[in-house]
Amino acid sequence: MIVHRAFKFKLDATSEQEQSFRQYAGALRWVYNRMLAERREAFKAGVKAPPTNEQIKQLPALKRQEETAWLNTVHSQVLQDAVLDLDDAFARFFKRQTRYPQFKRKHGKRQSFSYLQGVKVDEDRVWLPKIGWVAFRRAHQAKRYREIVGTIKRATVSHKASGWYVSLLTEQTLEDPQPVPISADNSVGVDLGSIDLVVTSAGVKLANPRHYRTAERRLKREQRKLSRKQRGSHNWHKQKQKVARLHERIANRRLDSLHRLSCQLIRENQAVFCEDLNVLGIARRMGKSVGDAGWGELLRQLEYKAAWAGKTFVQIGRYFPSSKTCSACGYQHRELTLAERRWTCPACDTCLDRDVNAAVNIHREGLKYVAAGRTETQNACGETVRPARRARLREARIPRL
Ligand SMILES: [Zn+2]
Repeated sequence: MIVHRAFKFKLDATSEQEQSFRQYAGALRWVYNRMLAERREAFKAGVKAPPTNEQIKQLPALKRQEETAWLNTVHSQVLQDAVLDLDDAFARFFKRQTRYPQFKRKHGKRQSFSYLQGVKVDEDRVWLPKIGWVAFRRAHQAKRYREIVGTIKRATVSHKASGWYVSLLTEQTLEDPQPVPISADNSVGVDLGSIDLVVTSAGVKLANPRHYRTAERRLKREQRKLSRKQRGSHNWHKQKQKVARLHERIANRRLDSLHRLSCQLIRENQAVFCEDLNVLGIARRMGKSVGDAGWGELLRQLEYKAAWAGKTFVQIGRYFPSSKTCSACGYQHRELTLAERRWTCPACDTCLDRDVNAAVNIHREGLKYVAAGRTETQNACGETVRPARRARLREARIPRL
């Protein structure tokens, strides 16, 4: 099994190095926009857009031209990557995953550039071709020395409100883990709760971390302050930076708590069952509040962490009224309102907690799914082979950095 992982560190760059970073990011943007314009014009004229390799071949010529000779200061890989990046953007567009590629703006959200080769890591510095050794804070994350495992396949330097970061994407071949039979005892159903972040079929409720609320209140206050300042003034810029940092901190904390949660769920169970997010769309229309609790990210983490650990993660794709079905007898309580946190089943008199009940139903549905998959994939010797779904999940989806 091939595993991709990303290791991200804060860079301690000199001001000259930061100058180079901005220059590199600017060059990437320039190349990206130029190639995009070319494709757009071709599209308008009704001719075939120039293919990626043709566009890459233009780069040396551009470097020789006087007005674009400044591209020489930038490593050629970074420029080539801009074209590949554009190619990716179109690929995603044709797969209907994103809208039509847009021009990159100078003050856009992400200033970044990548190398595909030639990056080396020493103790606490990283070698970026043509820029040189750049110091980074290795102990910054997890408050301990972080081992970088695998071969570096891509290094991305990007800018955030708090400074410049390098993200190293590595590749590693791991032995395939031995599958363990799934039973009711070693698996769990997870309800993406309306009040708590998640509720498990074992009755455990994991709340949204409290500090998150406090930070959000603070963010609102700082945003109000920003709106009172004169746009473009020195104080406005200062306040804007402050707001951006706060946003970043909140995003980091949220990501951190989601990672802890997904690690715990995968570590403690052989199989984790959840509702499908598309199904949640239906649930929302049915009156279940679906906040932006980061569920998409949580499901993504569960999927790849399960794949790495050789465990099963299944999203129940079929909509079923998990909250309204009694987990003890199967009775459907159609009149259940969102406000009712507890209810007593009219048919069997069981007292039910709304979210735990939903999680128990999801758990049961997941076990059914696994059982069905198992019977289908038993080979002639009666030996169990892995469910087909897992094969697909093995390729952990890694977001492009
Ligand atoms: Zn009942």
